[in-house]
Amino acid sequence: MKTLPDLLFNKSRSGKTGYSFDSDPLPGTSPALSAELMREDIQDFPSLSEVEIVRHYTNLSHLNHSVDTGFYPLGSCTMKYNPKVNETIASMPSFSNAHPYTPHHLVKGNIEVMRELQEWLCAITGMKAFSLAPAAGAHGELTGMMLIRQCLTERGDPRRIVLIPDSAHGTNPASAHFAGYDVREIPSGPDGVLEVDTLKEHLDKDVAALMLTNPNTLGIFERNICEISSALHENGSMLYMDGANMNALMGIVRPGDLGVDVLHLNLHKTFSTPHGGGGPGSGPVGVADDLIPFLPSPVIPRQEGASPRYTIPEGIGRVKNFYGNFLVMIRALAYLMSLGRDNLRNASEDAVLNANYIRCGLTGVLDLPYKSRTLHEVIFSDEGLSVSTLDVAKRLLDYGIHPFTIYFPLIVHGAMMIEPTETESLETLDHFISTMKKIINEAETDPEKVRQAPHDTPRRRLDEVRAARKPVLRWQPREQE
Ligand SMILES: *Cc1c(COP(=O)(O)O)cnc(C)c1O
Repeated sequence: MKTLPDLLFNKSRSGKTGYSFDSDPLPGTSPALSAELMREDIQDFPSLSEVEIVRHYTNLSHLNHSVDTGFYPLGSCTMKYNPKVNETIASMPSFSNAHPYTPHHLVKGNIEVMRELQEWLCAITGMKAFSLAPAAGAHGELTGMMLIRQCLTERGDPRRIVLIPDSAHGTNPASAHFAGYDVREIPSGPDGVLEVDTLKEHLDKDVAALMLTNPNTLGIFERNICEISSALHENGSMLYMDGANMNALMGIVRPGDLGVDVLHLNLHKTFSTPHGGGGPGSGPVGVADDLIPFLPSPVIPRQEGASPRYTIPEGIGRVKNFYGNFLVMIRALAYLMSLGRDNLRNASEDAVLNANYIRCGLTGVLDLPYKSRTLHEVIFSDEGLSVSTLDVAKRLLDYGIHPFTIYFPLIVHGAMMIEPTETESLETLDHFISTMKKIINEAETDPEKVRQAPHDTPRRRLDEVRAARKPVLRWQPREQE
């Protein structure tokens, strides 16, 4: 069992230091810093030796579960392993030290990288142009909704309503609302996909767009999407596709061919930027021809060697400072170029294969509410279990596996949303399946053990209500408590 190291403040012993720095030079030499430049003391600062500090932080870092330490099947998040070579390339000084105000003629290569990435994304998705500016998925959705709004307003037909199926990602309604639309939720059909008839019932001249997550949050491909886009276009409405789950589609299907008008991708899921710690992401937005004039600035023109354009008369303006999160773009391009066409397709096929392997491996063990073949993830429910989904997730921690996504999507009771990704081996998948079977068996024979889990983590179950209502965000010295 891993234990939580004590705080540096508590380990502190007066007189210890983490450096040796003498302002008293040998005869004939001068000090690195003269005594009057040195601070006597920083109040309440812990005093420790360097090795104690290094061990403290190294031990703390070992308490983190990460994709580098173990299986991380968090559904909808695509926690795949990202090749380290992409990190190396992103940390090359010519990329990582480039200042965004550097004159264009001195950073032509960096502009070319962005242009080239846009070309790759257009080729993969079939969209006609991309903006790399948005900082993450939800920001891409907001940008996309603003684009639709601008385009319809320019046509003299601004509309009020955005339709969103109940199987969409949770950020979709929030983004549409934030962009000023009224959101109307529509039900998905019994097999988990949106039916054209349901859409038509809700389509009227006030509908600006449908936001469709595809594959949806049940992991199912929206097989009616071509009829859906035709119905929308006949009505003067647009189709927004949430493409954060592109990990299931790369090299297999191009959203642009399905009639999608606006699409966002999550570079930090599909295209090799580690995420989960809230670090920088990137949510590029791809558009069909009609929406190109409205793209946010700066626009990187598709012609090789052209300078970025900042003045876009009809555009929606800036959505992010400078160009967006440049180093995320570097990782994505390095990833794309190293995989190439065939391996991109392989990656998606393996992601789908792995999810279906888990689906088959746990069928009969857990309830599978939607029987349709899934793509990159699979969703079970808590039906028939004597413990809760939360209990199963907590028990997984004892076995060194990061829990899957729980209680999402909302249309599945006690949802367990599992996304293994293509980077996991057959051995890991088998280990996960047998661990799940073990836990489900424990739930029958010793349910309390599962309900009290985790047992082997440095912290047991947290009081989540208290943590949310009365968060303690910083350490206070004892006297001030
Ligand atoms: C992750 C995800 C989002 C949101 O992306 P963020 O980068 O977290 O804002 C949107 N839609 C889907 C389907 C996702 O999986």
